[in-house]
Amino acid sequence: MTDLDPAHLENFRGEVRAWLATLAKPRADEVRVWGEGDPDLQIFRVMSEEDERAHLDRVREYRKQRFDAGYGALTLPVEVGGRGLPSVYAVAFADEERAFDIPPSSEIISVTTGLIGAAVSVFGTPEQRELYARAFLRTDWLCCQLFSEPGAGSDLAGLSMRAVRDGDAWVLDGQKIWTSNAQVSEYGFLLARTDPDVVKQAGITAFLVRMDTPGIDIRPIRQMSGPSSFNEVFFDGVRVEDALRIGEVNDGWRVATATLGFERSSSGSGHRRKGGTVDDLVGLARSLGVSSDPVIRQRIADVYVRTQLHAAMVAKVARANAAGDKPGPAGSLGKLLASDNLVRIGNVASELLGSALVADTGEWGQFAWSEHVLGAPGYRLAGGTDEVQRNIIAERVLGLPQEQRADRAPFSQLSRS
Ligand SMILES: Cc1cc2nc3c(=O)[nH]c(=O)nc-3n(C[C@H](O)[C@H](O)[C@H](O)COP(=O)(O)OP(=O)(O)OC[C@H]3O[C@@H](n4cnc5c(N)ncnc54)[C@H](O)[C@@H]3O)c2cc1C
Repeated sequence: MTDLDPAHLENFRGEVRAWLATLAKPRADEVRVWGEGDPDLQIFRVMSEEDERAHLDRVREYRKQRFDAGYGALTLPVEVGGRGLPSVYAVAFADEERAFDIPPSSEIISVTTGLIGAAVSVFGTPEQRELYARAFLRTDWLCCQLFSEPGAGSDLAGLSMRAVRDGDAWVLDGQKIWTSNAQVSEYGFLLARTDPDVVKQAGITAFLVRMDTPGIDIRPIRQMSGPSSFNEVFFDGVRVEDALRIGEVNDGWRVATATLGFERSSSGSGHRRKGGTVDDLVGLARSLGVSSDPVIRQRIADVYVRTQLHAAMVAKVARANAAGDKPGPAGSLGKLLASDNLVRIGNVASELLGSALVADTGEWGQFAWSEHVLGAPGYRLAGGTDEVQRNIIAERVLGLPQEQRADRAPFSQLSRS
């Protein structure tokens, strides 16, 4: 019997269910009644740092038990400490997990385990795997992703942070930005330029760094939706031991692209829902007494159709996973549809609410829509912007000609405006 045999997968599901039942109660069916409970329409969770830490403690406690039970790295190869299972097993695990009352995961947990834990497992030395990857996969330590810079987001390979060798260490100088949850992370995973005299992708190296190393200054950025979950992080003469280098010197681009690949293929297990839904729009229209308005019905029906299209795309990717295929660039369609729907849902809510969206009238659920509307643009950027997803679809799904590239010269010769 192979891992792709349905009976094998069913056995696995049974094992997982039995294990989950030893530590959590089945989750009661979530019947959402408009007007009752917490409206929770936030796309990015608004929490004080104290509440965020308390929440993370609960999630980490669960993740440690999950790792110790052998479910911490299902899809990683056996030779680097994983179970070597096809990704359909991670999807099945997430399905089973959703049926139990375990603390909802959060972005930094997925980044630490799904991206960085996986990257250090694959590219780290056996010592780094034992010391760091294990601790990240188990969430003993949290690790933020220090990739983006003020001049390098979509064009990540254009990053400017310098790492200069000094004996057994490297000295880091530069700035990172949009670093989610840097305040609560023990470690950061960063990319720095170690050779400016080769084409930009060729001179990058990946490092881990302890976030309390002298010379690191974390400054929170206040988002328009309320929270300050992401940060600017400044590096001024920060010394990092060579033992914290992940992968070969100047091979960081390979590490980075693999890490971003893990991001695209992560199952999103245990995630809370993001923002308002079509059902919430229907509830809002009814509460405002406008659900018979023909124009409003058209607007809500349009978002419903698009939501169904997104669900069909997610199901298609899951089927490809189940058959052992990689979703590849088609995954960009799912991200694009998801972010577009969030914006459209927010637009319909804004039309329904008018000024009540910005002035808290005290009516249940109305002001909560402003949190959805303010959060939606961030979702269009995070994890690759809508325009970048469209480029991927144009070039790699539709086979249209590639964009003009004017950056083939060594990094030090590129004009950087
Ligand atoms: C909520 C949130 C959390 C984040 N968390 C992290 C984190 O933890 N760690 C981290 O490293 N980064 C993080 N980011 C940063 C994120 O990865 C970047 O915002 C993203 O890659 C875009 O980069 P940028 O903001 O520099 O925009 P730019 O790349 O400067 O783009 C600006 C605009 O130009 C468009 N554009 C750029 N290039 C092209 C092109 N070739 N063709 C067409 N249009 C183009 C973009 O679509 C965008 O509209 C986060 C961002 C958000 C919003």
